[in-house]
Amino acid sequence: MSKVFLLATNTTTDPYPVYPLGMAVVARALTDAGHEVRQFDFLVSGRDTAGLASAIKRFAPDCVGLSLRNIDNVDSFSGESGWYLTQARELTQLCREASGAPVIIGGPAFSIMPEEILDYLGADFGIVGEGEKAFPELLARLARGEQPERITRSSGPGLTGSDMAQPLLVRELVDFYVGGSGMVNLQTKRGCPFKCVYCTYPCIEGRVLRLREPEAVVEDLARMNAEFAIDHVFFTDSVFNDPGGHYLEVAEALIKSGLNIKWSAFFKPMPITAGELALLKRSGLYAVELGTDASCDATLAGLDKSFSFAEALAFNQACVAQEIPVAHFVMFAGPGETMDTVREGLANLERLEQCVVFAFSGIRILPGTRLLDIARAQGVLADDTPLLKPAYYFSPHVDVQAMHEAMLTSFAGRRERIFPPSEGQARMEVMQRFGYRGLMWDKLISFRKDKPRRVKT
Ligand code: SF4
Repeated sequence: MSKVFLLATNTTTDPYPVYPLGMAVVARALTDAGHEVRQFDFLVSGRDTAGLASAIKRFAPDCVGLSLRNIDNVDSFSGESGWYLTQARELTQLCREASGAPVIIGGPAFSIMPEEILDYLGADFGIVGEGEKAFPELLARLARGEQPERITRSSGPGLTGSDMAQPLLVRELVDFYVGGSGMVNLQTKRGCPFKCVYCTYPCIEGRVLRLREPEAVVEDLARMNAEFAIDHVFFTDSVFNDPGGHYLEVAEALIKSGLNIKWSAFFKPMPITAGELALLKRSGLYAVELGTDASCDATLAGLDKSFSFAEALAFNQACVAQEIPVAHFVMFAGPGETMDTVREGLANLERLEQCVVFAFSGIRILPGTRLLDIARAQGVLADDTPLLKPAYYFSPHVDVQAMHEAMLTSFAGRRERIFPPSEGQARMEVMQRFGYRGLMWDKLISFRKDKPRRVKT
């Protein structure tokens, strides 16, 4: 049995504070394996380095596990301030100084560039992929006195839905996140079968969907509700509305349970019937975050999105008909973007009624993606450009300054059209000060017929 100190390093609250689910499921797996676990969230501590150091010293761990959620904030306007690894390196150093125990890095960000991140942080070991099985196995090898390789890669097809650990929630953390964002998050499945050119999720979770039993998901929700009074959750599946319809089974199980949980999730614009949406709404769906990603057919094809803008429009209209708020996330300057497609895309966004649009400029280039190959082939990125620090793809056929001006002109005076991304954070902070919690963007939409669509900010 080992004493394991787990540290969630994420401190971003953009767009809202997100419960460290990865740490919670690894904590459960380690506890079930007989280890003594202490979970520490740096954000919850108020970024208290002295408090962190003394917590580590008091606990006297046999190993420290650091969870990395993001490398950066994927906002091309941010520069150095949106890059999170400087802080992660300082925390690694702090852990080393507070304890002689080995430091092990994990989390989704680590899995994207393990070698580079491990070297940069100066930690001892890293785990690529799911930690629930790999972390206890690594501890067992260390306890036997073996010298494991620096990076452990979880092998095989990954955990099955029933192997996935229930999150081990901590009261102090729940209180913080429910107070800050009104919700806690949960997964109903892992994996993504789609192949969007820029995305690393399939590399992190695999392309095969691994589904949890709907009853197991409901069991988690019931426990979260009974023990912590959690009544709002965000399902952090890569795509909630899977082509096989598992998501509908989850909704049916939720309705059958009689639990009164409000939930939201990431959706893909795919055909959905009014009956299916009504079922989701009855089960507690209160808002949809839609991975629209681009705003005309040429740029959707450039991202290999496998749907048309007409399908995104139809999905939006279906949600409006049932008064379900939708937020579209759209990136400009991706592959295939020209000034003509910028104009076409902005005109298309005008056709999306009663919804929020978060727009981004440029797309973060990450290893293992086709976007990297495209960027190199087009000469947008030199072959030897390191990717640890943010590098962005901008279509060579776009005048970026003119594109920004067109976007700002199109969105002017509309509080539900958000660009640049920092504008969204600023608006959310204002709403937080007024006592709003949860997604908050959903409060920017009114379904009252007598309300004007254009609202001056
Ligand atoms: S962007 Fe979404 S749908 Fe596309 S591969 Fe990534 S997770 Fe899957």
